[in-house]
Amino acid sequence: MAATVLEEISALLNQVVRQSTLHTGYPFNLNYDYTPLCNFWQYSVINLGDPFSESNYKVDSKKLEQEVLFFFAKLYKIEASNFWGYVTSGGTEGNLYGIFLGRECYPEGLLYSSQDAHYSIAKAAKLLRIPSVVIRSQNNGELDYEHFAEMLQKNRHLPAIVNLNIGTTMKGAIDDLDRALDILEKNHITNYYIHCDAALFGMMLPFVPNAPRIDFTYPIGTVAISGHKFIGSPVPCGVVLTRKNYLKQIENNIEYIAAKDTTILGSRNGQAAILLWYALQTRGYEGFAKEVEFCLQNAQYMFEQLKSINYPCLLNPFSNTVLFQKPSQSLIQKWQLATIDNWAHTIVMQNVTQEKIDAFVDELRSW
Ligand SMILES: *Cc1c(COP(=O)(O)O)cnc(C)c1O
Repeated sequence: MAATVLEEISALLNQVVRQSTLHTGYPFNLNYDYTPLCNFWQYSVINLGDPFSESNYKVDSKKLEQEVLFFFAKLYKIEASNFWGYVTSGGTEGNLYGIFLGRECYPEGLLYSSQDAHYSIAKAAKLLRIPSVVIRSQNNGELDYEHFAEMLQKNRHLPAIVNLNIGTTMKGAIDDLDRALDILEKNHITNYYIHCDAALFGMMLPFVPNAPRIDFTYPIGTVAISGHKFIGSPVPCGVVLTRKNYLKQIENNIEYIAAKDTTILGSRNGQAAILLWYALQTRGYEGFAKEVEFCLQNAQYMFEQLKSINYPCLLNPFSNTVLFQKPSQSLIQKWQLATIDNWAHTIVMQNVTQEKIDAFVDELRSW
């Protein structure tokens, strides 16, 4: 191999390693070891179409993908016989899929989501050409329920496709599912579809005692969860979970792949299913519960540290997203912070330790 190629690769690797140690702004767990899976990178592990139907392409990981999905089915309280889902390319695909199913169930539906929803929700509405209503948010980032009720009432002749944020991207706020259902009922809207965008918190709340419950014992249609966020993985990925009966709206047998065409992408990342399976096997329910507790405690710690220096900040319940006033540009660059308007946040993931928090708060103080 040409020396310049090796040099480029090694320079990039050094940079990736260095930047990984300082990163605190995005919800990515950077603490993991998938090196036992390295050998798979010599193979084109690709899952074609539906994870539950065998295709003629056999270099796949559908068996492990199914096991990953059943782990989530159990976590989200849906029986295997009523359940369907797949490993996606990330939160955006899961959201697109959820809104798509909602639209297929209610072609005349209006999409409701709050102004704090992830930008992928508005993008899904645009791609699918669904008319949408943006609901105001409260200061903490949560849905403004009065405005939601008002807009529903105004449009009650139309079905409602509702996106709920289970942890908003910027402020870590959780929209209240019980209240949303109550408002739908009070306005006599029986034709509704609820999609839950649980990109980050979807892998946290089920492990927290007393946290709000979001699962399929409620009349929800889909939940989208990221794989590269709380679980962590070297490639972006996620899962989307739904009820099997919705599939009738869209499934289509495709002779060319000899599988059902139920997914948005055709060739899907089979490596991602292996990574997720390995993470679930090696860390397990108890492991994740400990990690969630660690992150929530450290988020509380960071919040207390900021308050102690009178730095403007906010931390929502059951959240690891510490919001604070936007610091100097050099701190934003150094710690790779995400910002909106006058705010920035640190998302306290497994690799954001108290030492890192102390170092950051020290720098904040001296600026
Ligand atoms: C990160 C995030 C997404 C999008 O996930 P990608 O994997 O980047 O596509 C969607 N919704 C919320 C709330 C998120 O935080």
